[in-house]
Amino acid sequence: MSEFDLIRACFTDVGPCRSDVGLGVGDDCALLEVPAGQSLAVSMDTLVAGTHFFSDCDPSAVGYKSLAVGLSDLAAMGADPAWSTLALTLPRVDSDWVREFATGYSRLSKPYGMRLVGGDTTCGPLSVTVQVHGFVPPSAAVRRGGARVGDLVCVSGTLGDAGLALRHLLAGEAVDPSLRRRLEYPTPRVELGRRLRGLATAMIDISDGLAADLGHILDASRVAAEIDLMKLPLSPPVADAVSESSDWGLPLASGDDYELCFCLPAERLMQVKDFAASLGCSVAQIGVIRAGSGLTCRLPGGDIWPLAQVGYDHFLQ
Ligand code: ADP
Ligand code: MG
Repeated sequence: MSEFDLIRACFTDVGPCRSDVGLGVGDDCALLEVPAGQSLAVSMDTLVAGTHFFSDCDPSAVGYKSLAVGLSDLAAMGADPAWSTLALTLPRVDSDWVREFATGYSRLSKPYGMRLVGGDTTCGPLSVTVQVHGFVPPSAAVRRGGARVGDLVCVSGTLGDAGLALRHLLAGEAVDPSLRRRLEYPTPRVELGRRLRGLATAMIDISDGLAADLGHILDASRVAAEIDLMKLPLSPPVADAVSESSDWGLPLASGDDYELCFCLPAERLMQVKDFAASLGCSVAQIGVIRAGSGLTCRLPGGDIWPLAQVGYDHFLQ
């Protein structure tokens, strides 16, 4: 058995068995059945050591997060997770690293019922690519382009936690464990996304910061939005950091939140808040969709926060 055979062995039984997997890891291809009447929702993300995670990061966190970012894309489409494939590039075979990586990957595969059905293992600079596959009835998929003038703009959870953790890590400072968890073990909002089918008019997951990702909804929907910065949902450490520095760039423009940003008609807000609460996830209404283009962020007192300060020229109007 070669070392790479050993690595493959770590990935032969990841996630629960599923009746729609005719053939999983071990042959030239996996054989998979998409349920009748459903679209296959597919998304792929790559995490590169030194860019998306620290090379000495806990391998179980790398395994967990590499799947979490894909699950977050399925959530943002309103899709049910089903299968994943995994391309792993490693500078050398370190079986302890691979075993821990697989533990983190499995830890997230199980609760979402996701089966790892194949992949590739190669030698090179450390990087991880995960493709996720889910199901959604074609008419129920929540796209980016459906926001309408008058819709409310909402976000789940809190913003800027991962960004603050990263800022502390880069500065060599101690990091609050709850913030560090948000950076390394983000919770994809899969059930919330699924329940927003037929309710949200547009949705995206926040991976590059609220300003950039809401910007994608505005572009795709050909509308503008005004958000009220006082309504941004912030954890106490992020609220403190913002009040000390007045740097709204932290919740608006730091990445890795993996929360959902969505639009919906006002009369649906209570219903959505209720079922979100039953899922243990908060939902905050932060603004409204307007006619026009671009994003306006209102400070308390009514002044406009200059988004250009956080480097998003895209929003210069
Ligand atoms: P091939 O040469 O036909 O591409 P491989 O030797 O790359 O076959 O892979 C053999 C089997 O192991 C395939 O079923 C493949 O999907 C699976 N596999 C390889 N690497 C991984 C991985 N990192 N995760 C999951 N499955 C993997
Ligand atoms: Mg191969």
